[in-house]
Formats: sequence, structure tokens, C-alpha cells
Amino acid sequence: MYPIDEIPEARRQSPPRPHLAPSPRRWAWLGIPVVAVAGAAWWWLTPASTPVASEPKPAPTMTSVDLLGHLPYPEAPAQDLQAVTADGRVKLHRDAAQAFLAMQSAARAEGVILVPLSGFRSRQQQEELFYGVKAERGQQVAERAKVSAPPGYSEHHTGYALDVGDGQQPGTHLHESFEQTAAFAWLQKRAAQFHFELSFPRHNPQGISYEPWHWRFVGTPASLELFYRARARS
Ligand SMILES: [Zn+2]
Repeated sequence: MYPIDEIPEARRQSPPRPHLAPSPRRWAWLGIPVVAVAGAAWWWLTPASTPVASEPKPAPTMTSVDLLGHLPYPEAPAQDLQAVTADGRVKLHRDAAQAFLAMQSAARAEGVILVPLSGFRSRQQQEELFYGVKAERGQQVAERAKVSAPPGYSEHHTGYALDVGDGQQPGTHLHESFEQTAAFAWLQKRAAQFHFELSFPRHNPQGISYEPWHWRFVGTPASLELFYRARARS
């Protein structure tokens, strides 16, 4: 007999198996994982499936419901509106009006003056604003739409959105510098308690210019649905 080391390893415990040439049928099962792996690789490499990092979305992804990045909104019925200024010029939906007045007095108690600059706007008013200012500045519509909504597409139509200023710093009204005011700092800290939120933060997915002064009320199911359903469609 041979010393154990001379016996080929494969023969030590079991008889050698006949070596079969791979037949198409025998190897067919391999196709399943190959297809699965290829499919997974394709899915993973497709840009659409690449997971979005914490970076803000750079480009707005809008559908046919939007117009130049803005979403359509219904006009609040006149009987739902309530004034939030003594002269009655600025009106909001009564739910938003009550919340705003409560927020305004809470701020005043802490020495901060919140001034309502603009609330409800009709389609007609928005039309004058959109086309009037655009013509004045000689802007193209797409350019104008970054800072103002086309008529029918403004959150101001709903009566739930308003532009807020700082009574102690009127020079910052409707300007990005509003973010340096005590009013803005206060709003950032406290507005959520009164169910107000910033509509157009920096790098918003709608591609609208940053508007630190524009806040909307989302404290009722009606207002919440209005804004979040509109968004979900986009
Ligand atoms: Zn506004």
C-alpha cells in the first residue's frame, strides 16, 4: 500500500465522482441569481434610485399642477375673513387671525412687535402685483415667479398666510434682512407654538426665493390639508 500522503486527497474518504461536463440543464439554476444580481446592480446604479443625502434638493420637481414652481390655491370666502390690523386692511381667515393675534400679544409681552404687512389677497390683487411689479422691473415671468406667485397660485389667497414685519425695524420689511430682526428670532423660536411655519425656507423644494417674512398657519385640519395636499401633488 501507499503511505497515506501519496493517496490523492479526494480519494481518501470517498470514491472519486465521475467528472461530468456541465450540461445546460445542470447549470440553468445559475441564471436566476445572475439575473437578480444584474437587476439589483441596474436598480442601484440608476440615478433615480440613488438615495438623497442630507443636502437640500437643488432642483424643484414639479408636476403639471404647478405654475413656475407655485401651487394653485383657492380664494378664501369673504365671510371667513377677519381683520388683524386696526384699519382693517390686513385680513386673515378667522382661525389664522385669532392665532396670529394671540401670537402678536405673546411677542409684545416680550418686547417684540410683530406687524402684519399683508394677509389675504384676492386673485385680482395678486394679478396687479404680479404683472405690475414685473412690468416695472422689466422682469421675465420666470424671474418674477421666484419672488411672487402668479395669480391663483399664492398662499395669500387662502387667508392662512401672511407677511410679518418687525415694528422696530421697518427698513427690513419684505427683505431678506428681516432674518436679522428680533421679530424673526422670536418667530423662529415661538411661531410653531401658535401653529405658524415658514413657507419658503432657504433651498425650498419649490425653488422659490427665501422669504423669512412669509408665514402660514397650519393649525386646523383645513389649513393643514390645503398646504400639505397641494405639496404632496408636486
Ligand atoms: Zn407673502
